[in-house]
This record gives sequence, C-alpha cells and structure tokens, in this order.
Amino acid sequence: MTGVDWLLGKYQGLAGRSTNEVLQLYSAHGQQQKLQRGSVVTHLHEAIKRLKQDMKSLRSFALELSKDFQRQCKAYLYQALTAVQEIQLQNEAMQMFQIKAFDLEQSLQEVTERYEKEKQKRRVLHNSLVELRGNIRVHCRIRPSLPFDNADEHSISQDRQRNFSEKVAYAIDDETVLVKCSRPGHASINKTFQFERVYSAFESQDTVFADVAPLLTSLLDGYNVCIMAYGQTGSGKTYTMLGPQLEENFAFALEDESELGIIPRATQEVFRLISEKPPGSYWVEVSVVEVYNNEIFDLLAKDSCGKVFGVKRDVVTTREGKSNVPLLTYETVENASEFLHLVIRGLQLRVRHPTLVHAHSSRSHLVVTLTITTIVSGDSLGTSWEDEQINQRLNKEFSCTYPQKARENRSTSSSRASSPAQLEATEKPKQVKTRLQLVDLAGSECVGMSGVTGAALRETSFINRSLSALADVLGAIAEQRSHVPYRNSKLTHLLQDSVGGDAKLLLMLCISPDQKYLTESLQSLGFGTRARQVQRGQIKKKNLPVQSKAK
Ligand code: ADP
Ligand code: MG
Repeated sequence: MTGVDWLLGKYQGLAGRSTNEVLQLYSAHGQQQKLQRGSVVTHLHEAIKRLKQDMKSLRSFALELSKDFQRQCKAYLYQALTAVQEIQLQNEAMQMFQIKAFDLEQSLQEVTERYEKEKQKRRVLHNSLVELRGNIRVHCRIRPSLPFDNADEHSISQDRQRNFSEKVAYAIDDETVLVKCSRPGHASINKTFQFERVYSAFESQDTVFADVAPLLTSLLDGYNVCIMAYGQTGSGKTYTMLGPQLEENFAFALEDESELGIIPRATQEVFRLISEKPPGSYWVEVSVVEVYNNEIFDLLAKDSCGKVFGVKRDVVTTREGKSNVPLLTYETVENASEFLHLVIRGLQLRVRHPTLVHAHSSRSHLVVTLTITTIVSGDSLGTSWEDEQINQRLNKEFSCTYPQKARENRSTSSSRASSPAQLEATEKPKQVKTRLQLVDLAGSECVGMSGVTGAALRETSFINRSLSALADVLGAIAEQRSHVPYRNSKLTHLLQDSVGGDAKLLLMLCISPDQKYLTESLQSLGFGTRARQVQRGQIKKKNLPVQSKAK
C-alpha cells in the first residue's frame, strides 16, 4: 500500500466526522509521530554513544596491541641479535679450534716424522752395534691364526679347545712380542721378548723382505750372509722363506709375486744388484742341500742319465778351518727365474712326512746357497798383509771348489764381458766369493706334541738333536768357550761358517699365536733371545773393488 492509499484510507475513515475531531485526530497523530521520532533519535544517540565507546576501547586495545607487538618485536630482535652474535662467536671459536687442530696436526706430523727418523737412526745405530759385536740379528714373525689350528682336536673337550685357540702371542710393537696367558691350574704368564724386528700377523711378505734386503747389499759389499728360519712345524718357516705352497705348486708361486718368500725375492734382489755392476764382474752359482736324519743330501746332483736324485754327501773341515761339502753340485744361474726352477727341482726331492701338527710340513732342514763370485783385477785389491792373506785364501778356495761346468759356462757365455780364463791371461784376475745361505729349518716342536711314532719319531728326534746342537753351538760361542761343538751334528757342521762368525746372520723366528702352541712358542722365543745375546766379534769383509754402502 502506498502513502497516498494510506492517506486516502485515513481520510475515508474521517468522512462523516467534525472538523474539530479531524484536527484533534491530526494533532494526536502528529504528536505520536513526534514521540516516535524522538525515541528513534534517542536510540540512535545511544547507539552512537555506544559505538563511540566501542571505538575508543578498540582504539586503546589496538594501541595496547601494537605496543605489545613492538615490545615483543624488540625482544625477538634482541634474542635474534644475541643468537647471531653467539653464532659469530662460535664461528670464531670454531675457526680458532680449526687453526689449533691444524697446528696440532702439523706438529703431530712433524713429531711423528721426527720420531720415525729417530727410530730409523736408532735402528741404523743398533744395526752397526749388532755388526760390531758380531751379534746375530733376530727377527720374529707371528703368523695369523689359521683354520688348521682348530682341526684334529676330537679328543679334547670343547672348553679346552676354545682355550687352545685363544691367542697368546702378540706383537705389541715392531720390536716386542708379548706372551700373555692365564690357564686354570697353571701360573699365569705375562712375558715380553725384544728382538731387532717383530712382525704382526698382518705384515706382508713385502714388509718382511724390506728388512732383509739391506743385508743383500752387504753381500755384494763382500760379506757372507745367512738367513735362517726357526720355529715349530706349521709356524710359517717355509711360508716366510719360500712362499705358500711353492713346493707343491710352482706355477702358483710365480704367478702371485706378492706372496713370494725371502728365498725367491733375495735372488731377484741379488740379480738386480748385480745388473748395476759392470757386466761380467759377478756370477752366481746355486747349491741346494737337505739335512735329513743327520745326513746331507745334494738335491741338485744328477745321475748318469741327467736325472736329479738326492745324493748323500759329507761335510768336512778344510785346512783353513772352513766347512766344505766335497763334490757338492753347484749350478750356475743367470737370473732369478733360472734359480727358482733349480730350487723347485731340488725341493721336489725334499723328504716330507705328515705329522699331526701340519700335514705338509717338511721334516728336514733345507739349505739353499747362492755363491757370488766377483772378478777382481790385481790392481784393485787392497795392499795390506791381511787383505793379501784373505785373497790368497779365497783364491785357493775358488780353485778348489769352483766346478768345471761353471767354468765352461763362463767361458762360453757371450753375455759376460770376459771369462776368468781370458782375464787370467791378461791381468791376473782374482776371484772373491761371498755366500748367501738361506735356511729353512725343520720344525722345532717337542716329540710328544707331534704325536708321531716309528720312522717319523726317528725323524723328529734327529730334528730335535740337530736343533739342540745348534743351541749348544750358540751357547758355546756366547760363553766364548775354546771348543765349539760344531761337529755334534751335520747341521751345525754345515752351517759352521755362518753361525760361527764369518757371516751376517739373521734368525727369523716363526711363531704360531694360539695357546695350543704356547710351549713351543716360548721355546722358540727363548732360543731367539739366547741367539741375540751371542757376540761373535766383528764380521770380516772380503776385499772387493767397487764399494757400495753397507747397511
Ligand atoms: P712351517 O714351514 O713352519 O712348518 P708353513 O710355512 O708350511 O710352516 O706354514 C703352515 C701354514 O700356514 C701354510 O699353509 C702357510 O701357507 C700358512 N702360513 C704361514 N705363515 C703365514 C702367514 N704369515 N700368513 C698366511 N698364512 C701363513
Ligand atoms: Mg716348512
């Protein structure tokens, strides 16, 4: 309904009324509207007032909020700044630490280098002392535990077996062996043994040979050298001297050069050193001998058909007091591979017998000798009376023992500059011989432990007797007794010159680490300790023309 309709309605309602009534109605209506407008205005005023109050409180709340916000921002900013400063400080501290760590690392490296140098110097000095006193150098190698150490133990309880396979021998540094063991019912053992060098189970054939190599330089400088491996069966003598399974598998031994032992490596080194000398001034002969049941066998001797067979030989003492094996076969070799073939051929004849300790162990002593002959022109020899005596003796030795075949080889070999015969015609050359003896001794274990009977027991008792003879010889030299019982065994008689003082002697003790072998290990370590104390006086040097620095 529109306003006009409404007014019309109202006026139609007024029809028939008096003017007064209409006016009254009209003024009442006006007042009512006035009243209504007034209340609306009042309401509006109140609402505006409330709104204003709300606005005011909102504003103060917003103000409060912004102040709070600013306060908090400041606090956070302060915290952030502190954190940044701390980080900076930490960074600086870290840098300082890094610098310090670097400095420390450097000084540690310097100290280590200095220590290594000092150690090296000490070793060189010690070696010179050893040389001056004529001491026997003793190195000791502890092999790793191996599967066969736990085999063949059916008869013993599991507990004992566990104890048996416990390690008792350790290399605590490169000069000290510790034997530590406590067994129920036995006094506990805690002993250390010092040697010139100690190799732990993980040291390679390379490392072992690196310490042996300087001796070979001495060889070409005119010293005799002997390297001898001592230890019970299965302790690693053959491994150290020849390499693994060289006796059984020649091809393998040549393929894996890193596993080669001292004998093949020493030969390679000798030929390398010779190759640096004037051609034709040196040549090398080899003999391979086995001492089995106190008999000497020539492992390179051939029958009339040229087949190799072990011929029994004897050892004699010459008028000059040297040991000599008459008729021993010497073969001339021109390189390491020729040498190895010869040695392997000889080894195939080596008498072996399985014992309970280790099925492939050798029951004989093996002595491989490299004789190096140097041609020395008359002019380059020394002039002292002593030199002259030595040279005369050496020439005599040479003419007695130098085999016909080698002389033929020499005169026909085109690679040599001149044969001894040719040289003799022109400038009266002389020959000086030096000898490298490489010895793989038979096992030093007690008879009881090997569990052998019959022929094998006989072998073992011969081995034990010859090794006791070796210990007796060392004891006699150590005590400087007038009589040294070299002739009590073929082994000591054969090795007389090397053991008795004419050679730089290195004894390589081989040790099995497990408790099972404790008695044998202690025996070997004791043997090495006694050997180390032997003083034989200064080792003699043969007069050679070209001198290189002896180590
Ligand atoms: P031995 O000649 O003293 O009777 P071997 O040299 O025959 O003893 O060693 C016995 C076994 O132990 C062999 O199988 C050999 O390969 C192994 N052996 C010895 N020494 C080591 C070593 N240092 N590292 C690894 N194997 C070794
Ligand atoms: Mg052996």
